Amino acid sequence: MRIDILSAVPSLLESPFSDSILKRAQEKNIVEIYIHNIRDYSTSKQKSIDDYAFGGGAGMVLSIDPIDKCIKQLSKERDYEEIIYMSPDGELLNQSICNQLSTQLKNVIVICGHYKGIDQRIRDHIITREISIGDYVLSGGELAAAVLVDAVIRLIPGVLNNETSALTDSFQDNLLAPPVYTRPSNYNGWKVPEILTSGNLKAIEKWRHEKSIEQTTKRRPDLLK
Ligand code: SAH
Repeated sequence: MRIDILSAVPSLLESPFSDSILKRAQEKNIVEIYIHNIRDYSTSKQKSIDDYAFGGGAGMVLSIDPIDKCIKQLSKERDYEEIIYMSPDGELLNQSICNQLSTQLKNVIVICGHYKGIDQRIRDHIITREISIGDYVLSGGELAAAVLVDAVIRLIPGVLNNETSALTDSFQDNLLAPPVYTRPSNYNGWKVPEILTSGNLKAIEKWRHEKSIEQTTKRRPDLLK
């Protein structure tokens, strides 16, 4: 998968992709991530990328031209299945959307807004999908894009060392994950449930499933419907 992220503050996107699982996914050539500074596509003398909102009011708006130019340049080189805009009023991101994107996308553009957002005409004419990471407002789309990209990439086969580890995570089957423990099995009297050290794999699997249902019933009964 190839992911091109358009941003007004590209430095915000450097660290999320340069460590751990996402770094390894790139090293293994499973995914390519390119971050584009929309300022590089500004044709104005001052390299400006924003302007006052028509009609007045507080806050700047990202202009059409640099974003359109960047997308046109990228689209000349390859076809993109989706051009996604991160936006608080987009469809709410969930595991099922992440699964869908991880299997369907080969090339995708992700646009991060800033200030008051981007000129509506980009949304009307260029963007194919709008995604929100939750009902709250961030200063910019970079953190939201990092959340989306992380959640999607870890689902691509080969990214996690043990593929099944994504399958047993919360939400994959509409259940929350069971609790996990590691050594020591007894920490100053706090003991690990005995079944987990029994070596009885069938019984452990059954215990985990029961705990998943228990957790989900307690915390997220809506998922069981
Ligand atoms: N004026 C807009 C918010 C702009 S916040 C409004 O009220 O809807 C600036 C940018 O941050 C947005 O353009 C978007 O790209 C990003 N952003 C903020 N909150 C977000 C969220 N919950 N999910 C995804 N992107 C978000």
